[in-house]
Amino acid sequence: MSHSIPKTQTAAVVASSGAAIEIKHDQPVKSAEELAPGECLIKLACTGVCHTDLHAALGDWPLAAKTPLVGGHEGVGEIVAIGNNTSHSPVKVGDRVGIKWLADSCLNCEQCRKGREQNCLEAKLSGFTVDGTFQQYAVSYVNHVTPIPEGFDSNAAASILCAGVTVYRAIKYSQTSPGDWIVLPGAGGGLGHLAIQYAKVAGLQVIAVDTGADKKKLCLELGADKWIDFQESKDIVADIKAITGGLGAHSALVTAASSSGYKQAIEYLRGGGTLMAVGLPGKASLEASIFFTVFKSISILGSYVGNRQDAAEAIAIAARGEVKCNFALKQLSDLSSVYEGMTEGKVAGRIVLEMPK
Ligand code: NAD
Ligand code: ZN
Repeated sequence: MSHSIPKTQTAAVVASSGAAIEIKHDQPVKSAEELAPGECLIKLACTGVCHTDLHAALGDWPLAAKTPLVGGHEGVGEIVAIGNNTSHSPVKVGDRVGIKWLADSCLNCEQCRKGREQNCLEAKLSGFTVDGTFQQYAVSYVNHVTPIPEGFDSNAAASILCAGVTVYRAIKYSQTSPGDWIVLPGAGGGLGHLAIQYAKVAGLQVIAVDTGADKKKLCLELGADKWIDFQESKDIVADIKAITGGLGAHSALVTAASSSGYKQAIEYLRGGGTLMAVGLPGKASLEASIFFTVFKSISILGSYVGNRQDAAEAIAIAARGEVKCNFALKQLSDLSSVYEGMTEGKVAGRIVLEMPK
């Protein structure tokens, strides 16, 4: 099978941190011969837009992204070339695969051996330390791309690769059992609306927290048992206690992109409860009463994307139709306006971008 790989392509480029997005049509594409062993070239069909991409473009975080940057880390496409002398590749040319945030890891260090591949010091991050999926052709790595099962629509699969994987893993480690209450601040966003569904797959009872009529409708349609509008509620702690028989929730999985979503979580958790920190405001500190964290035996855990196995599991659940990304389809050239909508909190669920053909 031979694929004609063009020499140039269209990509959404951010020249420097905080700069405007430029849609460029003359960006170089690596040829098959230029690929290093272990690298593959993927012709992307689509990509999701994660709030992380916005943080990266704005330089919100204590860690800086590469510049110029092609962001994006929820891409699905076809492998059109694999670097010469790649050994033991788990994928081949023609396979449909996904690119996730964790583009590559060494697979040999203690973190990788323990399955915490995302904490590998050699980790390559798609759309952050290496160019990502806001382009027609992306270089990725054979060991970390995620095979997409046959029959699973690419647009529907895209956002499972970051939003889905991340909340799937966070719920897995949330120390909850079927029947427990989980609170989801950020429930109407990209990660949150998938968290509602993965939580239901895990048998949990869900309290969705977000704001606005659109997000309320979406959360309840997706199976949230209760809804709290954080801008309308006079007392979120009291509301959550009232829902949970006065005891508080077993877990809170915070996917709000601002620190406000973390406020009061320790107060509304019951004894033995777990706070899963997932949302990534760059400069905020977690405020928690030390006294009540100890007195109530609270666990505070950070959860960062997922490893190859988490990706395979999250994709398999979605491919079976048990979790569905609620997305609006737009074009790569719409990326700036998508970021505007995200900044204003107007995106219910996810936006997926089609690549120019
Ligand atoms: P999003 O913008 O789609 O969703 C965030 C939601 O939080 C919005 O619906 C917003 O209305 C809501 N929100 C804001 N303040 C709130 C509050 N006080 N209470 C309740 N809800 C509130 O963003 P997203 O793409 O879902 O990403 C969310 C965050 O997760 C970002 O910071 C992103 O960088 C981070 N993230 C982390 C990981 C990880 O591995 N830990 C992976 C992916 C994304
Ligand atoms: Zn992401």
